[in-house]
Amino acid sequence: CCLTAMDPFDGSSVTETLRRISAELGCSPTSADVAAYLDKHDKLRHLREHFLVPKIADLPPSDPSLVDGTKECIYLVGNSLGLQPKKARQYLEEELEKWAKTGVHGHTGGSRPWAWAENNIEELMANVVGAKTEEVALMNGLTVNLHLLMLSFYKPTAARHKILLEDKAFPSDHYAVESQIQLRGFDPQQSMLLLKARPGEETLRTEDILEVIEKEGESIAVVMLSGVQYYTGQLFNMAAITEAGQRKGCYVGFDCAHAAGNAQLKLHDWGVDFACWCSYKYLNSGAGGLGAAFIHEKHKDTIKPALMGWWGHNLDTRFQMSNVLDLQPGVSGFRLSNQPILLVCPLQASLEVLQTMQALRRKSVLLTGYLEYLIQQYYTKDPAQPHKPHVSIITPSDPQQRGCQLSLCFSIHIQKVFQELEKRGVACDMREPSVLRIAPVPLYNSFSDVHRFVETLGHALAASS
Ligand SMILES: *Cc1c(COP(=O)(O)O)cnc(C)c1O
Repeated sequence: CCLTAMDPFDGSSVTETLRRISAELGCSPTSADVAAYLDKHDKLRHLREHFLVPKIADLPPSDPSLVDGTKECIYLVGNSLGLQPKKARQYLEEELEKWAKTGVHGHTGGSRPWAWAENNIEELMANVVGAKTEEVALMNGLTVNLHLLMLSFYKPTAARHKILLEDKAFPSDHYAVESQIQLRGFDPQQSMLLLKARPGEETLRTEDILEVIEKEGESIAVVMLSGVQYYTGQLFNMAAITEAGQRKGCYVGFDCAHAAGNAQLKLHDWGVDFACWCSYKYLNSGAGGLGAAFIHEKHKDTIKPALMGWWGHNLDTRFQMSNVLDLQPGVSGFRLSNQPILLVCPLQASLEVLQTMQALRRKSVLLTGYLEYLIQQYYTKDPAQPHKPHVSIITPSDPQQRGCQLSLCFSIHIQKVFQELEKRGVACDMREPSVLRIAPVPLYNSFSDVHRFVETLGHALAASS
């Protein structure tokens, strides 16, 4: 190949990068050759080899008359359920084998002793979210962890009883907050402070979030937002929100379900008080995978769990069964039950490949920018142009304010577009009322996936209108 040396991943603007590559290749920036070039120069492309990508024919809604079923599907739904890491099966089989052969001895034997198996991968998890190992616990599911954390961080008083959250928070978070307020004898109508976007806007402005905190901060006990908003894909400025909330004396926590493994998090450096997240989205641990919780080390001796279980007791003396609780400091003391080894295995398999967040994020900015660029080239968001289908992107265009997901709205009925995409081997996700969530995941998606998707979207729109 005669191309001059250039690194498409050097952080130049996406448009500039695509223009340079297409000039060198002598083709249009929208040509599939550009995608192939980007894939060839992607130093992370080998990571895809660690995952199992479903074949189109195995996806139930695919239509063999429209698409070659032997091809890999276009999997753009890692925001909902990440792909299976190849090592997951091996690790699970090792533990099943150990169980079969040694029974109860598996608790302390082998390379993954069940009694502290989750402790062995907490460092890997901590690296992904920018935390110290002691600040992270792997346990339970996300909503359970949110409740456990709020039981300790939400201590409302008559003067300071509110929880600040998004108007359209994920339903489980909304219910968790609502029920915590009720549990403390307060009225959700008075105590749930909901952040709304400005009329005609889809996403929240940082300045508006900070202004609400500034104005209402004295009555807010806890600021509890998502890191990346599940519906719009907006990445919040967690550092600024944490700073603003704490200046007003609030605790600040984040639900990082859509941020962990997607955005670059610095939970420790930002001084976030607490956080929780699930592991089956960008962390690929399989449906219902092991959840995670973070409590900043500054709270290690002051914030105590409200509910106790034997797994919060120090490991050294846990099995002496003295009934005198020797509580582990910080988030470790929040553990209740012994951990499910069968959930640890797939999470370990995934975290072992995920240890490059900085490089993944660099690729992600280009990959999602490429998706945005192609959509803008092919589809207008201007309804005054009748010859083009209307597609609008509600996710912020600023890479600092989004992760990998773009949320698309259409002039055509969403359900129809979604069905036509599925028939053609695209796995993506539709959310009521009107959004398709498209998440090119830098860990296993390629630039060619994105190109194939935009091409397929054209066919799907043509078949829908
Ligand atoms: C995925 C997700 C959940 C799901 O909660 P589970 O307890 O894991 O079922 C909750 N909140 C947010 C913000 C999510 O993105």
